[in-house]
Amino acid sequence: MKRVTILGATGSVGSSTLDLIERNPDDFAVEALTAHRDVGKLAAAARRVGAALAVVGDEACLPALRDALDGSGIEAAGGAQAVVEAAARPVDWTMAAIVGTAGLKPVMAALARGGAVALANKEALVSAGDVMMAAARRAGTTLLPVDSEHNAVFQCLDDCPPERIRRIILTASGGPFRERSLEEMRAITPEQAVAHPNWSMGAKISVDSATMMNKGLELIEAYHLFPVSPEQLDVLVHRQSVIHSMVEYVDGSTLAQLGSPDMRVPIAHALAWPDRMDTPCERLDLARIGRLDFEAPDMVRFSALALARAALSAGGARPAILNAANEVAVAAFLDRRIGFLEIAAIVADVLDRFDPPKPQTLDAVLTIDAEARVLAGERVKDGVA
Ligand code: NAD
Ligand code: MG
Repeated sequence: MKRVTILGATGSVGSSTLDLIERNPDDFAVEALTAHRDVGKLAAAARRVGAALAVVGDEACLPALRDALDGSGIEAAGGAQAVVEAAARPVDWTMAAIVGTAGLKPVMAALARGGAVALANKEALVSAGDVMMAAARRAGTTLLPVDSEHNAVFQCLDDCPPERIRRIILTASGGPFRERSLEEMRAITPEQAVAHPNWSMGAKISVDSATMMNKGLELIEAYHLFPVSPEQLDVLVHRQSVIHSMVEYVDGSTLAQLGSPDMRVPIAHALAWPDRMDTPCERLDLARIGRLDFEAPDMVRFSALALARAALSAGGARPAILNAANEVAVAAFLDRRIGFLEIAAIVADVLDRFDPPKPQTLDAVLTIDAEARVLAGERVKDGVA
């Protein structure tokens, strides 16, 4: 039996993880579940799986959580530090599914504890890649990629030496606006942006998919997870989201992982690893799908992807700044304070104005993240031309 903790248990990835665990009650025991503010959903899940601990990141929600857990015997805690402490509790497997750099300290605590960490929280790795990977190595923690593309690559990597890998090709659906002109994109609303054609996901990653910043963050994520240089990472638009990514080897073989676009497939892979487990996911019916299409990404219409690619090549603090500015801009867009095209404009502007040296510690990453957020916030307030 695996003892597991889910950070971000009320979100899209967290709920899919709980679904798999609840279908296999004999295989998993739940230590801790955490959420930001959604007390009702958190308490209900904690009761269903018999968690030992439930934590809300927002301390103001703790009294409501205590009420909701009354009589269950489940321990309740609240506040950002309580989330970190929950992540540090000994378990075999942790799902890191908090959205944004809010998940960075908890994921660092889970990495330091050892065991296996299933990583969905890509923003943490984009901001603090070197620091996080060093922490995982130090503790001997296995990092299992959950992002569907990285999980696909993980499955396609064989044991050959890294120098025999020619390229890693991340596939991208292209998002809901794959065929829209820049002029058409100007008036996109939050409702249109979060309606992804293939995947059902949280609001922030859905907007990132629409700008294709998501694929940019994934390039940086892949650079940290796999033994390749930035030049060996390619993006290929594949609108059906059936091939989740590919690895090309020096001998001309290209391996791909295929599956229905359902996050429970990669989550199940990480949950059962190194074994496999059954899922209720729709089986892939290639005869019905009929054809798979591919095209090169348009870096002009999707300038966020170009910004992320440049941040990856430049390295240092650039990815952390890119990510922080993007988080602020996406939140402002969802709040209807800026337009869709202004997201990438704000990220570009903050990257232009802020160029600190490479952060060597977690604290240095968090300082850069905070400063970039202030600059992006000012730009949101000023309104972008
Ligand atoms: P979501 O918005 O649906 O859920 C986010 C979770 O984090 C919720 O449980 C929320 O309560 C919690 N949270 C938010 N802010 C917090 C804070 N300040 N402190 C503590 N907890 C906080 O997001 P999601 O779509 O499940 O995505 C989670 C992560 O996984 C993101 O990094 C995303 O990029 C990545 N990811 C998601 C998908 C997907 O299909 N949804 C696919 C690949 C990668
Ligand atoms: Mg992905």
